[in-house]
Amino acid sequence: MKAIDVHGHIQFPDFDTDREVVIKRAKDAGVKMIAVGTQAATSKKAIEIAHQFPDDIWATVGFHPNHLSKKWHHDEKEQYASEPEIFDIKILKELARDPKVVSISECGFDLFSEGNDAGLQRNAFVEQAELARDLNKPLMMHCRPSKGTDDAYEYALEILRDKSFDALPKIMHFYAGSLDMAKKLAKLGFYFTFGGVITFARSYDEIIKYLPLDRIFSETDCPYVAPQSRRGKRNEPAYVVEVVNKLAELKGIDLAIATEDIYKNSIRVFGLK
Ligand SMILES: [Zn+2]
Repeated sequence: MKAIDVHGHIQFPDFDTDREVVIKRAKDAGVKMIAVGTQAATSKKAIEIAHQFPDDIWATVGFHPNHLSKKWHHDEKEQYASEPEIFDIKILKELARDPKVVSISECGFDLFSEGNDAGLQRNAFVEQAELARDLNKPLMMHCRPSKGTDDAYEYALEILRDKSFDALPKIMHFYAGSLDMAKKLAKLGFYFTFGGVITFARSYDEIIKYLPLDRIFSETDCPYVAPQSRRGKRNEPAYVVEVVNKLAELKGIDLAIATEDIYKNSIRVFGLK
């Protein structure tokens, strides 16, 4: 197997006791990974780990919209102590210069959780989208709409429709919008990531069947949302194999071919080397 977990959080404290073992399990399974930052400290740690494992791990730098909330949505899986942070693009800019940084992520709009301020999220998102554009690194977004709507995607689109973002690779992580919105985004050239949830929830099937395989990446979002066989347990990069299997099945494409295509496409779009 050759697979890439394009969105996970191997740097989170949830892996502090056995990180090297987890990374070894991924390597044995043929899985490479991108460690995604969620604010300054987790971005910095992602870069450190990427340097420790230069052939198998890359990093992103970003500020997750939930970190702008007055109510704190994150947990001890991400940080030992919960404390709201001030968004500062200068710190992210500095970190993003590192050659192991392959994307600006995760950033975007989270309108699902209570207490989120769309105005604050917009300001932080615009600065990060501009940073991605200026550095020519793909923008991998966390957009979580309020229940039954596509609002978070519409907010992001409003900004990214600007011509200056045309050439920027745009990736929707953990896509959870409607089929209509997926069609709209696909037409505009967006990419989509899917994780463990597609192995046990059937609401993604239609969207995955619709999207061309070359617009789809595999992820885990570990330690969160483990696939069917480990449901409710801690997720880890090696389990992305189960996601790739499900993607191939839903697309009706031979597993070996689908695996190779998703792998090569991830290497190309993220510029992994
Ligand atoms: Zn994430």
